[in-house]
Amino acid sequence: MPELPEVETIKNELQPHIIGHRITGVTLFWEGLVRQPSVEEFCTRLIGQRLTEVARRGKYLIFSLTSGKALIIHLKMTGSLLLKSALAEPDKFIRAILHLDGETQLRFRDPRKLGVMWLVEDASPIIGKLGPEPLEAEFTPQILAQRLTNRTAPLKALLCDQGFIAGIGNMYADEALFAARIHPLRSGKSLYPDEVKCLHSTIQRVLWSAIKNKGASVENYFRPNGELGTAHFQFQVAHRLSGKLCPVCGTPIERIVVRNRGTYFCPKCQPQGE
Ligand SMILES: [Zn+2]
Repeated sequence: MPELPEVETIKNELQPHIIGHRITGVTLFWEGLVRQPSVEEFCTRLIGQRLTEVARRGKYLIFSLTSGKALIIHLKMTGSLLLKSALAEPDKFIRAILHLDGETQLRFRDPRKLGVMWLVEDASPIIGKLGPEPLEAEFTPQILAQRLTNRTAPLKALLCDQGFIAGIGNMYADEALFAARIHPLRSGKSLYPDEVKCLHSTIQRVLWSAIKNKGASVENYFRPNGELGTAHFQFQVAHRLSGKLCPVCGTPIERIVVRNRGTYFCPKCQPQGE
């Protein structure tokens, strides 16, 4: 559920509070969060480490440690990372706590227990296959055009494919396609050069705007201070119940399923075409 703008917001808002701080302890209420190494090694190798950097790649958070290892976190569907005083009561959905010096805790809240943590020397087996970062200079209209060539998959599926482009999921794929007036079932290779250019700029515009609004709190997404994001108030089609009206033309928004993903679009603004 948290996509690029939500994970970017979490990274930005954690940074000033955790960089330079030392991990003094680890409490796991749900050991299933730890993918690698063993739970015991995970805890002992974290304790005593100082956090030197936090970065984002796609929907992954990467915390660098003084040991040279990296703690990688994927929040999956319902995860959030909360900064709390050591005195605050943990709620029942807290699955792990990183105790930091200065009586601060970084709490991993995850109602559905789907989140994952890794502690690794080399992050590339986990993040190496991700596609380009949509907000980096490397992601140009030419690169998008190249990647769409010969692709027969529907655009909705391509935009949600982390190997095609990193960080986009259901919400921002629907928003970008609506803003570009492109039907979600059109194939990658069917786009005209002007449409590719337009999609490239709408992807960037939709993501930047959501970051500015601190992410979309449609389900369980919280910012590290416990507040909600407001990006969902800007949504034109995503997460609309079908039957709501298109904000541009007044036609009822439709919901279809594309490769198992609920997809919202306006049948008039986003014609299916040839
Ligand atoms: Zn419309």
